[in-house]
Amino acid sequence: MAKRNMSPEKVEMPAQDAKVRARNFEEVTHGYTVEMAKEEAARCLQCKHKPCVNGCPVMVKIPEFIHLITEDDFEGAYQKILETNVLPAICGRVCPQESQCEALCVRGIKHEPVGIGRLERFVADYHREHAEPESHNYETNGHKVAIVGSGPAGLSCAGDLARMGYEVTIFESLSEGGGVLVYGIPEFRLPNDIVKNEIKQLELDGVKIETNVVIGRTITIDELMDEYGYEAVFIGSGAGLPVFLGIPGENSIGVYSANEYLTRSNLMRAYDECYDTPIRKSKKVAVVGGGNVAMDSARTALRLGADEVYIIYRRSFEEMPARIEEVHHAEEEGVIFKNLNNPTEIKTDESGEVVAMTCIQMELGEPDESGRRRPLPIEGSEYDIELDTVIIAVGTNPNPLIKDTTEGLDVTFWGGIIADEGGATSREGVFAGGDAVTGAATVISAAGAGKVAATSIDEYIKSKNA
Ligand code: FAD
Ligand code: SF4
Ligand code: SF4
Repeated sequence: MAKRNMSPEKVEMPAQDAKVRARNFEEVTHGYTVEMAKEEAARCLQCKHKPCVNGCPVMVKIPEFIHLITEDDFEGAYQKILETNVLPAICGRVCPQESQCEALCVRGIKHEPVGIGRLERFVADYHREHAEPESHNYETNGHKVAIVGSGPAGLSCAGDLARMGYEVTIFESLSEGGGVLVYGIPEFRLPNDIVKNEIKQLELDGVKIETNVVIGRTITIDELMDEYGYEAVFIGSGAGLPVFLGIPGENSIGVYSANEYLTRSNLMRAYDECYDTPIRKSKKVAVVGGGNVAMDSARTALRLGADEVYIIYRRSFEEMPARIEEVHHAEEEGVIFKNLNNPTEIKTDESGEVVAMTCIQMELGEPDESGRRRPLPIEGSEYDIELDTVIIAVGTNPNPLIKDTTEGLDVTFWGGIIADEGGATSREGVFAGGDAVTGAATVISAAGAGKVAATSIDEYIKSKNA
C-alpha cells in the first residue's frame, strides 16, 4: 500500500510558459509523469462512500482507478475508467472538474481536491503511448442503427452500440469526425490527434463514419429508416447555430460568430501557412461573452497574432460560466478582461470594416430567474474601444434543419429536441441526446446522454424483434 500524501495542494502539472504559449498552438499543459501521477494518486483517501463519483455525470469509478495508479497498474486503471467513460483522454482535459467530480472530493473541503481530471488524463495518455489500438471483433447481431453527428454524444452512443453487436453508421456533415472536439475546442487545449485516436478505436470496433453527409439535405431521417433499413436513429447533432446580440453594426466586415472563427482556425487550420483558409489578420480584437467559447476565441486571436484581445462580459468574474482554469490561462497569456461591460453598437468606416465598439458599463442588481444577479446598465457610462475585429460568443442553439425535415419530431420553443430520460423522442425509433436536447452543455454530459440512449435503443430494437 502506497504511503498517503497529505500535501494540501495538487501536484502541479507542467505547462508551457504563458508568454511563449500565447503565440503557438501547442498544448498548454504537458500532463503528469509516472512519478507525479503516483504522488497525486497517493492524495486520495479512498473514501468508502465515494462522494466524488456522484459529481461525475457518468459515474467514473474514481477511487478504484486512482488506487490502481498507486499499484502501478496503469492499464488496469484505464480499463476501469472505460467501464463508464469512453472518452477519458478528452474528459481528463476538458471536463469542468471543479464543478463536477472534484467539487465533491473530501480533500477539497479544507484544501485542494485530488486532481481527478489530471489523473484521468495521465491514465488515458499512458494507454495511448503504450498500447496499440486493437480491434475487438464484436459479433454482429444484424441490426442497423444510424447516428447523426460525431460529437461526444454520437461517438459514445456509437461505441456502446457497436460493443452490443449493432452495425452502426455515423453521418457527419463536416469533413472530419469529432464535432466540437475538433472544430470548436482549440488544439492548445485538446490536440486533434487525441480525438482522432479515440475515433480510430471506435472504427476498429466496427463503427463506420460517413463525413460530408448533411442529414436533412443529403438524406433525411425518414429515408434512413424507411429506405435504408436503419431500425433506430440517434440524433446527436449538437447546438451549432450561433446566437447574436442584435445590436447595430453586427453584420459588418470583421465581425465573426465564435463558431465561424474557431472552425476556420481549428478545423480549416487557418493558423497553418500550408492551408489557404482566409482569416482576418487582426490587431485589436474584442470577444463578447464569458464562457469557454469566449476564452477559446480570445486565446486563439492572440495566437493568430493580435496585439490586444479583450473579453467583454456583462456580469462579474464570479458569474463567468467558463472553467476557472481557462480564465486563469487567458489572464496569464495577456487577455484583457472587461467584466461588467456590455456592447451597444459596432462602428465601421466607410467601407463597412469594424473600427470600434461602443460599450456601456454595468452594475449588478437583484437576482433574476437564473438566481444570478441581473446586470443593469449605468446610465451615461458609454465609451468606445478601437478595434478591427469582434467575435460574438454569447451562445448557440440547435440548427432547425433536422426538425424541419423529420416527420413528427417535437422540439422546444428554442429548438431543442424533446426527449425523455432515456433519450426517446416523440418519433418512434428516433432517439436524441447531447447539446441537441439540452442546448450548449458539456462534453461529458453529451457523452453520458449518448450512453443512456444506446441502452434505450438496444431495449427498443430487442422489444420490436421479440
Ligand atoms: P457536438 O459536439 O456539437 O457535435 C455535433 C455534431 O453533429 C457536429 O460534428 C455537427 O457537425 C454534426 N451535425 C449537426 N447537424 C448535422 C446534420 N444535419 N447532419 C449531420 N451531422 C450534423 N465542454 C466541456 O465539457 N469542456 C470544455 O472545455 C468545453 N469547451 C468548449 C469550447 C467550445 C469552443 C465549444 C463550442 C464548446 C465547448 N464545450 C466544452 C461544450 C461541448 O463541447 C459540447 O457540449 C459538446 O461537444 C456537445 O456534444 P454533442 O455531441 O451534443 O454535439
Ligand atoms: Fe471527472 Fe469528467 Fe472524469 Fe467524470 S469524466 S471523473 S467529471 S473528469
Ligand atoms: Fe479520493 Fe476525493 Fe474521491 Fe475521497 S472524494 S475517494 S479523496 S477522490
